[in-house]
Parts: sequence; structure tokens; C-alpha cells
Amino acid sequence: MTQEARVSTVVESLTKAPRNIAFPQKDGRPQLISEIFGQNVFSFKQMASRLPKPVYSTFLKQLRGNETIDKTTADAIAHAVKVWAMERGATHFTHWFQPQTDSTAEKHDSFLTLKSSFEKGFEEVECLDSLSGSQLLQSEPDASSFPSGGMRSTFEARGYTIWDTKSPMFLQEGPHGTSILYVPSVFISYNGQALDEKTVLLRSSEVLAKNALDVLDLIFDPENDVHVNQVHTSLGTEQEYFLIDRALYTLRPDLKITGRTLIGGLPPRHQQLEDHYFGKIPSRVLAAMSECEYELYKLGVPCKTRHNEVAPAQFELAPIYEEAMIAVDHNLLTMDVLHRVAHRHKLKVLFHEKPFKGVNGSGKHCNWSLTTDNGINLLEPTAKPEENYRFLLFLLATLKALEDHGDLLRAGIASASNDHRLGAHEAPPGIISAFLGDHLTEVLNAIEEDRPLKTFGAPEMQSVRVGGTVLDLKVATLPNIARDLTDRNRTSPFAFTGNKFEFRAVGSKQSVSFPVTLLNSAVASSLQEVAEALRKQKGDKQYATKEDQLAVIKQFIKITKNVRFEGDNYSDAWVKEAEKRGLPNIVNSYDAFTRLREPRNAEMLSRVGVFTNEELESRYHILMEKYAKDVRIEAQTLLTMVVQLIMPATFSYRKDLAQSASLLKDVEAGCEPELKVLKELTPILIDLQKAVATLETEIAATDDITDDIGALCKKSQATLLPAMEAVRSYADQLEGIVGDKYWPLPKYTELFLNI
Ligand code: ADP
Ligand code: MG
Repeated sequence: MTQEARVSTVVESLTKAPRNIAFPQKDGRPQLISEIFGQNVFSFKQMASRLPKPVYSTFLKQLRGNETIDKTTADAIAHAVKVWAMERGATHFTHWFQPQTDSTAEKHDSFLTLKSSFEKGFEEVECLDSLSGSQLLQSEPDASSFPSGGMRSTFEARGYTIWDTKSPMFLQEGPHGTSILYVPSVFISYNGQALDEKTVLLRSSEVLAKNALDVLDLIFDPENDVHVNQVHTSLGTEQEYFLIDRALYTLRPDLKITGRTLIGGLPPRHQQLEDHYFGKIPSRVLAAMSECEYELYKLGVPCKTRHNEVAPAQFELAPIYEEAMIAVDHNLLTMDVLHRVAHRHKLKVLFHEKPFKGVNGSGKHCNWSLTTDNGINLLEPTAKPEENYRFLLFLLATLKALEDHGDLLRAGIASASNDHRLGAHEAPPGIISAFLGDHLTEVLNAIEEDRPLKTFGAPEMQSVRVGGTVLDLKVATLPNIARDLTDRNRTSPFAFTGNKFEFRAVGSKQSVSFPVTLLNSAVASSLQEVAEALRKQKGDKQYATKEDQLAVIKQFIKITKNVRFEGDNYSDAWVKEAEKRGLPNIVNSYDAFTRLREPRNAEMLSRVGVFTNEELESRYHILMEKYAKDVRIEAQTLLTMVVQLIMPATFSYRKDLAQSASLLKDVEAGCEPELKVLKELTPILIDLQKAVATLETEIAATDDITDDIGALCKKSQATLLPAMEAVRSYADQLEGIVGDKYWPLPKYTELFLNI
């Protein structure tokens, strides 16, 4: 890595044209999204058309949890999907699962089967393409090489992947025009413990559905209500990411190894003009986004929105919401496809929550709600939320979940990378509170205070009660618009946005499975409490009347008041206020992870049947260990970069300055300017060397701790991070002084602008 490499890569990146693909055509026009969508998915519709009726109906019964798949059904489904896949060039299949690595895992098996016969007195081997029912249902990867948090040791390595029948199978491109059949799966240990992200998500969705149905049954008025048979969690994940030129990326060891820049100063212009958000999408980026969406449409991922985000080189992709487990699968596929397509465009996608110091980081907003089988969104306030008790009960149950287990939700989004974002002044802080907006706040206050709702138009209510109203823009040629029930509050970690909650503090890099599992579990638990309260009010009556419901609503308004906050979550005043309210402000991952062991949280998770204590303990271990490893990798990377790149570059500059100073002295031309710069550099270099020595010592000191994973995490955070920060501060000062042509690393300006 040299300064020449940097300069030539920068120049080269400027001449790169957008990549064009042959978009499929129909009737002389590009195919419509609806014509491409789901092409590579073995959908339930495909299944129904390819399976004998009784087989398909057994499958449906299994999906509803009423029956398990027998061997004949499994064989029939396996055969049908194999034929479908082979018609599309598949040679292999894979169980695709989600170990606790924030990404996915796969091992490919070919359809090849050998069959031997001895009919003519000698062995004859015939080869077939086959997929049996049992191969489809389960596979057995070695579990010992995946994170298990001590639940498995290498000598007891058996683990199973099992087909998750709710999530459709799909095809991905293989090499040389072939394809591979993907079978979405869960991953469990020999004893049935969850080793993955999906098993617990499925458990949490089931218990949430069950408890929601219980509440709905308790308030079911046969005269006026439609009966609900199923409830599911809806989830829409807005994925933020950075895209930079790939060649420039390869010149940054920190980005390559850790996903973020460990050195680098802000250029004079970055995001302060607020001109990137929703700006014109750069053409190379648009080409990549569009190809990515094309690939995702084929996989049935409903991409909806694409735009520039706030920071330079930052973008977002948002899909239409789906049932939670499908949405999680689809988000993981989205990250995978984005990564691969970016390569084809000579770009690099960065999913890290904070790749660049000083500009906004990336999140993955999780839009969450509950939907019934008859299409009702249980978090839809309707025009008169004050009369919609069902809505209020579900809203309050969600608030109660935050009130009781906010710290657990905080644990679900903690990581070494997201720490750089949470609590910084551009992301929701480490205090978990909910924003409801003026209107809903007024509704809850009025009910609590037993008074009529303040009416729209009253002077103190100018900003309230705007749901369903029309905004007159006072320009004759513009249409009037309908105003939403709530305004936005971008600073809240958990904001009610119209008819769903938006969990905004989730990190861009992580799988959303864990945070959603914890949220589902906490809400399932509070729905249990709501149900108990309703049961008590109802007594012997057939169902809980409106009065009964109102009594419960009042009770829950009181006990959830603490967690509601409408103001600026980034302000210091809120930190103080939250402290007064007793809300935890968890500013780092170590503190967050310890909340997994809180008896209150552990009891709840095991009561709702989502995590056994052993499974939870294993998460604690995995997360603590991952944190410590992540930070250590960063520390070592920084060390190498400073010693091998930054110091030598500075030495070269000093040498040239010294040589020219001595030459100038010889010709009596005056060498003060060169000497001045030299002298300025010397103390920084000395400080840098000292900081490097401290970092080395601290890295070595973390070697001492091997048996207590919590202590290792805590120590890594307390000692390595500040030591790295010190090294960086001197390195960044040098970047500002050392001649540009000596500097080996692409600078922020180049990374931001050269796409
Ligand atoms: P906003 O701009 O307020 O965030 P959008 O309509 O753009 O709202 O939605 C953002 C995400 O929320 C999208 O993925 C969208 O599909 C999802 N979403 C919308 N309604 C729901 C819902 N009822 N449940 C879950 N997610 C939803
Ligand atoms: Mg949003």
C-alpha cells in the first residue's frame, strides 16, 4: 500500500461507468416487477399446483400446527420441489440456517445418488438425481464449529438443521448457469436446544399469537365483532448501508478487517449542508441498487423504497412488511444480495453501524405490528382511538413490555459496532422509551384523568387531534392533503408511527431476529397480564364488556406512564429526567448483556417458553465473547496500521522536510518553514508512539483473562477502546499535517465522493 496506489485508485474510480445488465424483456419492454416477482420461489401456490391434493392438505395441517409431516408426504414434497428446481437448473440443495453470527450458513449437497444392483451377477451402478423426504426434513451439520456459548463441546458435536416449513424454499444462482435449492431451516442441538436465531423467533411468534388471541377472545362480543383465528407479527425492516468504491476500500485494512475506519478525519464538507438525504442517487449506485432489487424480486423479496440517506455515501432500502420470520429471512437475503451485487459494480457495501467517525451511522428500523388473519392491524388507532379499546389494550401491552423489559430490549441491540451509534448524538440513546405523538398522548391522558378529550381547534390543542383532518396548503393549484395522526419523532428509540411501532435503535449489521424475539416475548408476557386483568374484571360474564375493558385500560395507562417520552431523546435533560424516572440508561454493551441474566428477564423468557435458562446463558456467553473478539481485532488492526503505514508515511515526510531544510540552509535560503512543520510533527509522533505502546500493553493484559467471559468483555471495553481512541487522535492529527502525497490511506473525502 503506497501513496501511488492511493492516487491511481482515486483517479481510476472517477472513470468507472455504471454497469448495465440485460434486464429481461417482454413485448419489447422491460418486464414488470409483477412479472418477475417470486420467479425463483417454490411458493405455496407452486406447491398446490404440483402436489396431489391430500399431500398438500397434510402439509397445510402441519403448517397450522395440527399434524406433523409423515414420510409419504415429505417424500412427495421433496420430489415435487426437486423437479421444479431441476427444471430451473438446480444441481444441489442446501439447508439454509441462521447461526448466531448475524448471517446465514449453508452446506451444499448434490442431488446425486448412486444405486447399485446385482441383477446380472455383477454390481451395476446407476446414478440418479434425487431428493428424499428425510433429506428435505433434516440434515446434520457439525454443531461444534458454530457459536453455542458452551452448550456444545467438540466431542458432543451433533446438531440438526430442520426444514422451517413456514418459510418458502427458493433458488439462488450457482456457478456456470446452474442453480441451488435453498431450504430455510432451523438449527438445534442434539438435545433440542436452539443454537440459532430462528428457533427462538418462531417460538416467540407462536406465544405472542396465542396470548394475543387470548385477549381477543376475552373481549370478543359475538354480536359486533368478527372472530379472529390467527394473529401474526408483521415486520418491515428498513436497511441502511454505505456504498463506496471497491478499489479504494481494498486500500483500507481497517474497513476490510473490521468494517469501520479506525483512523480518518472529517473533511471540511460532509453532511452539514443536509444535501445528501433524498438527493439524486449517483448513477453507479442506482445501477447497483436496481440490479440488487431485480435479484431480490426474483426471490420474492418485496423491495419498495430506495433513497440516499443523511450521511455522504449512505443509502437505504426498505421492503414492504411481511410476517416476521419471512421478513427476517428476507432481510438476510437482502444483505447477502446487496453484498454480491455491489461486487459486480466494483462497489463495496458497508453494513457496519458506524463506518465513519463524525457522520451519521446506520440503523435497521424494525417496523413492528400485529395483524389478524382477517387483515386487521391490531395497532391501527382508527379515527377515534379513544373509543377503540382493542387498539388501546394492544398499545398498552406494548408499552408495558417496554416498561418491564426495556433493558432486555436494549440487550438485544447491543454489539461492539452498535455501541458507536447508540448514545451518540445522532441515534436513539441507550434509554428505551416510547413516543406516541400528541394525539395518542392526549387520548391516554384524558382517559386517565377521566375527562373528555380536548377538542380540535381549542388554542392549547392546535397541534393535537389532527387525525383524519385535512391540511389546506393555501395554494390553489395544490391538492389538500390528509394529515397523519402522529407527527414523527426521529430521536425516539421506539416510536409509534401511525399504525405500528418503529424500533429505531436496532443496528444495521445485526440480524433483527434476536431483538424481534425479545420484543415478541416481552409483549407476549404483558398480554398475559392484560388477559389476567380482563378475566378479573369480567368475572362470570361471557366476555369483558366495554366498562371492564376501560377499567383495565386505565390501570395500564397508569403503570406504563413512566416509559412514555415525547421530547428530544438526544438532550441531556432527558438523560436526567430518565434517571429520575428510574429508567435504565445503558450506554455500553457489557452493561446491556448483563441484563440477560437479570432474574426478572430470565424468568419472563422462560415463562413464555422462548428461552430456557441454559439457552439464555449461552446467548450471554456468545455475545460477551463476540464483543471481546471484535474489539481485540480492531485494536490489533489499528496497531498494525499505525506501525506499518502511518508512522512510515510520516517518517518519509519528515525525511524530505529535513533534507530540504538542510539543502536550504546550505544555500542560505532560509529553512524556517520546513523546520516549523518538522517541529510540529515531532511531539505528535512521540505521543503516538506512547499511545501505541499503551495499546500494546492493554492488548496483552486482556490475554490474562480467559475463564471469565464477562470480565474479559468489560475489560476490553474499559481499556482497549480508550487506548484505541488515543492512538486515533494522534494519527488523525498527522493526517491533517503530513503532505497529501505521502498519505497511504484513502481519505474520507475520497471514500465519500468517488462513487
Ligand atoms: P415510515 O416512512 O413512516 O417509516 P413507511 O410506510 O415507509 O413508513 O414504512 C416503513 C416500513 O414499515 C416499511 O417496511 C413498511 O412496509 C413497514 N410497515 C408499514 N405498515 C406496517 C405494519 N402494519 N406492520 C409492520 N410494518 C409496517
Ligand atoms: Mg421509517
